[in-house]
Amino acid sequence: MSRFLNSIYQTLDAYTPGEQPKDGAYIKLNTNESPYPAGPATVKAVTDARQAARLRLYCDPDAVALKDALAERYGVKRSNVFVSNGSDDILNFSFMAFAQDGVLFPEITYGFYPVFGDLHGVEYTRVPLKEGFFVDPEDYKGKGKMIVLANPNAPTGRALGLDVIAEFCESDPDHVILIDEAYIDFGGISAVPLTAKYENLLVVQTFSKSRSLAGARLGYAIASETLINDLERIKYSTNPYNVNTVSAAAGTAALSEPEYYRENCRKIMETREYSAGRLKELGFEVIPSVANFLFVSNPKIDGKEFYLELKERRILIRHFDNPAITQYNRITVGTREEMDQLFAAIRDILDRKEEK
Ligand code: PMP
Repeated sequence: MSRFLNSIYQTLDAYTPGEQPKDGAYIKLNTNESPYPAGPATVKAVTDARQAARLRLYCDPDAVALKDALAERYGVKRSNVFVSNGSDDILNFSFMAFAQDGVLFPEITYGFYPVFGDLHGVEYTRVPLKEGFFVDPEDYKGKGKMIVLANPNAPTGRALGLDVIAEFCESDPDHVILIDEAYIDFGGISAVPLTAKYENLLVVQTFSKSRSLAGARLGYAIASETLINDLERIKYSTNPYNVNTVSAAAGTAALSEPEYYRENCRKIMETREYSAGRLKELGFEVIPSVANFLFVSNPKIDGKEFYLELKERRILIRHFDNPAITQYNRITVGTREEMDQLFAAIRDILDRKEEK
């Protein structure tokens, strides 16, 4: 940081994204990407959209084709859909737009929430989880603040039921309840249908995980017209062209081949359950997950050491610096073959440790 930086940002503790190694020689199980490539229609749309003639023009700031495809997919109107440059963009806009009375989110959750809180100078409370990483709904009700919940939560993989989300919406109709469903397609139950009933419910999803488009940066929200209009106001005051031509085309095409992505999710869920079983056999505690990752610890090896040992063997998983979860690691579910390589490496690490 320099003397040029506005003093309000001098103490900002920026988000640290997961490692993206440049040499590609890693099994990458650290940033919850899909192990499968985008589908054929999606790839073709990207190729077509990249033609220079189309890139000469600005993209459609309203992203009408993409919004209409999302509206059809979720059974809502175009006016209930917002699209943006990754769902991080929507989270950022939401902290900017809706957090004036403060925000509640779990102590252990997506690490970007406190960064957005700090960035926009909003007061936030990190609510401790109950033993076993459970959210206690009573901690959130009637507090007169915006609530932000990843559902399923990250990095734990645990999910809340829709009854709880409905109760949050009813308990405080004057504050936004933001449900971050980045991982919803791996076995969770989406709150999107509740947006027809609750004006204060904002459901955020992404093309990054279940639709293999993390690099395209494409997120969306489904909500009442009221909340969507508010988000549009922020977007049109920040960057109206936040979804570029190529990414919009990719997203629209991805929605045209849902069976392809559904089958990938099915494979990932199957590999998740297989992997949970294998990890338990290897002595790990595995938190039950409805996401595309597993949150695990093993009493035989320190969390950070485990991460480093795997990195030496060219396997990347995610270790967090938060002391409350330092014995845990988050492992993205890869292909069955990648996971088998992981288990072989783990066996080797644990065997060598026992020899010492
Ligand atoms: N929410 C959660 C809970 C996440 O883990 C992530 C991925 N880092 C995001 C949102 C952001 O995803 P994206 O910006 O790629 O849509």
